[in-house]
Amino acid sequence: MRIAIAGFQHETNTFVPNQTTLSDFEMADSWPPLLLGNKVISSTKGMNLPITGAVIGAQSHPDVEIIPLVWASAEPGGIVTDHAFNHIVDIILIGLTQADPIDALYLDLHGAMVTHSFPDGEGELLKRLRQHLGQDIPIGISLDLHANVTSLMVDLSDIITIYRTYPHLDMADTGRRCMDHIIQITHDQIKTGSKRRPCKSFRQIPFLIPLPAQYTAHDPCLSLYQKVETLSQAATAKAECAMGFTAADISDCGASILAYADDKAEAEAMTKQLYDMILSNERHFDGKLMTADDAVKLAMESDAKKPFILADVQDNPGAGGSGDTMGLVRSILDAGAEKALVGVISDPDFAALAVNAGIGGVISSNLGGKSGVVGDEPLTGKFEVIALSDGNFSYTGEMYKGGVAEIGPSCLVEVVGANHVQIVVSSLRTQCLDQAFFTHFGIDLREPRIIALKSTVHFRADFEPLSHQVINVISPGFFGCQLEQLPYQHLRHGLRLGSDGPLFSKP
Ligand SMILES: [Zn+2]
Repeated sequence: MRIAIAGFQHETNTFVPNQTTLSDFEMADSWPPLLLGNKVISSTKGMNLPITGAVIGAQSHPDVEIIPLVWASAEPGGIVTDHAFNHIVDIILIGLTQADPIDALYLDLHGAMVTHSFPDGEGELLKRLRQHLGQDIPIGISLDLHANVTSLMVDLSDIITIYRTYPHLDMADTGRRCMDHIIQITHDQIKTGSKRRPCKSFRQIPFLIPLPAQYTAHDPCLSLYQKVETLSQAATAKAECAMGFTAADISDCGASILAYADDKAEAEAMTKQLYDMILSNERHFDGKLMTADDAVKLAMESDAKKPFILADVQDNPGAGGSGDTMGLVRSILDAGAEKALVGVISDPDFAALAVNAGIGGVISSNLGGKSGVVGDEPLTGKFEVIALSDGNFSYTGEMYKGGVAEIGPSCLVEVVGANHVQIVVSSLRTQCLDQAFFTHFGIDLREPRIIALKSTVHFRADFEPLSHQVINVISPGFFGCQLEQLPYQHLRHGLRLGSDGPLFSKP
């Protein structure tokens, strides 16, 4: 059995003004750069990536040969250029021609890619692949929990698996689950000659779920995903659920549910159960945020022995944020808060100044606020350089385990004249979801009273256990989480903006 594998991941925030280009896919960040051929396997080995799990799954079958084509991902950001999209799709198509004949194809996709020409990037990719491969070759795809799944994706693939955790601790498991299904389908097809596939049922949820409410260690998502697991216990029935990515102004934006079973009625009964469960819990998908000033005040007035974590959820680079807005830092400084730690601000010019100044040097400069986010501006002041780094270090948390950061020259600085307010600054945009962003500078994370992080939910896996309390704060950023305030134009008519939120109507 010859199974071709490829990966092409992007989570597109259509509200970000910058576009995502081929060079964004070609460079390394928290994940590897664009990989070709056998590097797809060797350079993702040991990581928590879907393709890694898929490879492990395939290698456990001695009769399966895998043919790696390409793997590429870019940091979440603006719309993907047609050039980047066509280029990477063509690598897959040429690879398939060279690999011919194959028995099946596995794809590691995100499910929320928007390109200049196609609001459903993955749907367009699958269309071109079906044109090339025909209808009979099984195609399985694994998707992120934040996928905006479309009926085109469902129709053109034979099996879709979706992460069941946010923070995404099960990326590799999801790739493996997909590969197991593909092998099963392909095996049956070879053995019986039958092209029969599991019956599908797909439903979209009529309200958008803000990302801070998608945390799967709390209800309602905890119970929901337990139900998804329970429904998938039967050998012939599988359920999947995506929470959707709300910063995509497209008609298919939002959460959805999928089921596969031997007969249509069974698949539909499964999606109905999950649909009813989500709808009956609608008001509990609550993404309420606190103002940054109130959150800082709460932390300062507390006598807790552990840090308060203030999550700068709207400037999360992992959702397209610029990673350089300074609203929360300003609230900390204005309040005179002491022992605060902030990370990670992305500002390559500032990082270069720090490298020039050296450890112990003091720089007078603007920090952050350079990306044109409405309501934000740079922080002007004096900063003492406490530590420097080349930005290459191993991750230590569960989600990025086995991976290495490549975030360019970075520094730890202390704001001169403040009460021990320290800030980590990197050259590349990066989501602060792993303690190593701080600890590789020698920081003891038990010391600060406040830790301010640029992340929406992923940080919780590694940081929540050391905290007294986590508070999601309102501060400027490209990743707006107050959905009723976003300038949507292309959603489907009647979609509710947040739980019990206002109905979207076409402008
Ligand atoms: Zn995600």
